[in-house]
Amino acid sequence: MTEPLTLTPQGLYSPAAQVHIDPVRPVERAVITHGHADHARAGHGAVLATRQTLDIMAIRYGRGFCGCQQAVGYGEAVTLNGVEVTLHPAGHVLGSAQILLNAGGHRTVVSGDYKRHADPTCSPFELVRCHTFVTEATFGLPVFRHPPAAREVEKLRKSMSLFSDRTHLVGAYALGKAQRVIAELRAAGYDRVIYLHGALEKLTRYYESQGVYLGPVEPVGRRGKDLAGELVLCPPGQLADRWARRFTDPVTCMASGWMQVRARARQRGAELPLILSDHADWDDLCRTIVETGAAEIWVTHGAEEALVHWCMAQGRRAKPLNMIGYDDGDESGEGPFGGPSAGGEAHAAS
Ligand SMILES: [Zn+2]
Ligand SMILES: [Zn+2]
Repeated sequence: MTEPLTLTPQGLYSPAAQVHIDPVRPVERAVITHGHADHARAGHGAVLATRQTLDIMAIRYGRGFCGCQQAVGYGEAVTLNGVEVTLHPAGHVLGSAQILLNAGGHRTVVSGDYKRHADPTCSPFELVRCHTFVTEATFGLPVFRHPPAAREVEKLRKSMSLFSDRTHLVGAYALGKAQRVIAELRAAGYDRVIYLHGALEKLTRYYESQGVYLGPVEPVGRRGKDLAGELVLCPPGQLADRWARRFTDPVTCMASGWMQVRARARQRGAELPLILSDHADWDDLCRTIVETGAAEIWVTHGAEEALVHWCMAQGRRAKPLNMIGYDDGDESGEGPFGGPSAGGEAHAAS
């Protein structure tokens, strides 16, 4: 049998369907898993994705981000060159999808980024049985075990009551993480106004327009010292920026899966690290691989070798894809909101 997917300089390619998936360079036809900047780039000819991913790309890159676009709902089948393509929720961020390619009965799933933990801001991960599973491996080491989000939110609320005269400044990526922090706080009963750095506004408003409940949120605007005791969200890059000096002695927090690595928290200058990840941890990566029933596992960006080794020990065929162009969790793959100062989200930055 010919390989269902090949790796080209542009990224993963289905020769049968004649499309690239999350290409890192402009291509004729692309299927995009989700709106994070390193997966969703501007300049393709035709783009097929969920409505929300297309909207998010338009918000970030402008209306003309590609030649033409086709929105498909979860589970809705589209046939590309004889290959049936369907999108299934990945539980990563709003609109995120796994791509199922069914070529003459051989089912290949490209997961994109995914998580299994509950997230009030997006559709839950859907398990899709397949023969070949392409999985991410951002947190693909056994040391990575994500705590429940509620526990991290509780840490934040406890700090807010202990240091009730200080602003709590939370660094969170613009797409997904910022909105999840807000939604988890609401789920925990926090009902006061949450203040936003300007770079987080557009996507947060978009989430609201899609029916995600975020409660009262307001731009920080010119406020500063008067937000003592309040909660402010900003892109991670702003935590150590001049912008943050408007607050008196803020408690700096950072929400990211990487916060379980002490060195990363220190590097971020996060006084209060919040371990909040939008990726599967080691246990969930392994569990998902087993549950898909796939005999062949391809492992993409992240800690590939450990997961490949684990798969082979389980009697599955597995290989690392060593793809370039995806981030390992630092903020290099930024979109227009990005750059070190405004700090969008890198794929793995969560
Ligand atoms: Zn990614
Ligand atoms: Zn992502």
